[in-house]
Amino acid sequence: MPSGSEPRSLVVLGAGLSGLAAAWRLSEIYRERVVVIEKNSYVGGLAASVSRLGRQFDLGSHRIHHSIAPEMLALIRELCGGELQERMREGLILVDGRFIRYPPRPADLLRGLGLGKCALYTAGMIAARMRKLFVGKDAESFESYILSNLGRPLYTSFYEPYARKLWGVSPHILSDESAKKRIRRVIVTELKRLGDTKRDWRYFYPAKGIGAIAEGLKYRIMQNGGRIVLDADVTKLETHAGQEVSAVHFRTKSGTESIKIENLISTIPPDALSHLLDAEKPADISFGLRWRALRILFLETRDAIERRPETYYVSSPDYLAGRISEIAKYSPNLNPEDGWKAFTIEIPCTQDDEIWRMDEQQLAMRCAKELAEFGIIRSTFSEPPHCASMVLDHVYPFYAVGWQEQYAAVCAYFSSFSNLYRIGRTALFLHCNLDHSIAMGLKLGTWLTQSNRNRDDWLRDENQFRDYYVRE
Ligand SMILES: Cc1cc2nc3c(=O)[nH]c(=O)nc-3n(C[C@H](O)[C@H](O)[C@H](O)COP(=O)(O)OP(=O)(O)OC[C@H]3O[C@@H](n4cnc5c(N)ncnc54)[C@H](O)[C@@H]3O)c2cc1C
Repeated sequence: MPSGSEPRSLVVLGAGLSGLAAAWRLSEIYRERVVVIEKNSYVGGLAASVSRLGRQFDLGSHRIHHSIAPEMLALIRELCGGELQERMREGLILVDGRFIRYPPRPADLLRGLGLGKCALYTAGMIAARMRKLFVGKDAESFESYILSNLGRPLYTSFYEPYARKLWGVSPHILSDESAKKRIRRVIVTELKRLGDTKRDWRYFYPAKGIGAIAEGLKYRIMQNGGRIVLDADVTKLETHAGQEVSAVHFRTKSGTESIKIENLISTIPPDALSHLLDAEKPADISFGLRWRALRILFLETRDAIERRPETYYVSSPDYLAGRISEIAKYSPNLNPEDGWKAFTIEIPCTQDDEIWRMDEQQLAMRCAKELAEFGIIRSTFSEPPHCASMVLDHVYPFYAVGWQEQYAAVCAYFSSFSNLYRIGRTALFLHCNLDHSIAMGLKLGTWLTQSNRNRDDWLRDENQFRDYYVRE
């Protein structure tokens, strides 16, 4: 570390849940030496609540799953000031052109799909399992994983269109990681649900919106004397001898600032981090990992049809909407009844593609038509819907076949900086839930306060985070 008497800071890049959780732990010991630097005007990252159309929305459907660890649930409850509601899931999913209950119970599957389809899917699954037992070939792609675990009928009817919609490509390009992360545990969970303990049919949700968790963390950091800088444009991460990060330079509305660094915690995407580091980068490493983005449409209408579901899942690529949610059903405290109903529509896309750039009104009209087709709103409007939208890049890591080698090279480069740590979904190119992000932050924050720490242990832990699976 370069010499100098001025105390150095523990700088966290990104005020998402992982960064805030780490900063909270660190601020308990290091107080005002902890600085969080965030590019947005709000905290929470992907799990923020934002204000649009005079209402509060989450950035897509967010809930706290019932299966999270009890200690984590207690912590989240505390962060939300005790205001955590337990609610019943009332979702619908579009399968084979019909909406069935999600998560489905056996009777819903039978009623929705019919005996013939259920028998076909079950036979396909058994045949796939038998083939796997005898041929025993390892899956490499999303396609081969589903075919060898669930069979062709389910692949063709559901998973192939689902993958094309979510990832925008044919499933044979995707690595089996995407299936394992998102689907393997879903299957296990669904099977458990069929034997139902009622537990997984419920979820928790903060009365004041999902952003209440980040707000709770922000409050605690500031109480401890830590600093959170919003709307910041980080211009450079200065390095010393190519081995450590020595300072961060950034701009805000009030001017430019530089802070000397003791430890840097990055929760930002690897490509953004590599751009900021002023050290030389090996020419053979490509930091541009692929991501899928999300366009989020907030739509407010007077023409909603009163229905029970809070969420609709649409995996067919024939529609723009991927998931539609009605936030007032997640928490009745949000957006009280005034004749208008507000929906959040998640539309998977790729940065700069047609959907990403589509005119907001045009997007709203196309989505409104889809909502009318699904029976969520009337097809003739008493008044045009109001809308607002935003784009989120770096939302879903895109695990193309062979992604591991590229990612390993990226990690090796970053770990050559002795005081640089990376945590969180976005920094680690990880598909995980919000409680995982909080857990990573708390773990690193706690670890960095220990005097007898060994960096190799941490790098091993960082690798273990890859075992997180996604709860839906
Ligand atoms: C649509 C959607 C729905 C979800 N639903 C659920 C759910 O129901 N339940 C659940 O448990 N999980 C859910 N998740 C997952 C959960 O939101 C994430 O796991 C979690 O919020 C990630 O937090 P993070 O801190 O790891 O990453 P992020 O939230 O991505 O935090 C990274 C932060 O870094 C900031 N940043 C980026 N670049 C820079 C820069 N150059 N300078 C400064 N700051 C920068 C970003 O603005 C952001 O604030 C969902 C995710 C999505 C996208």
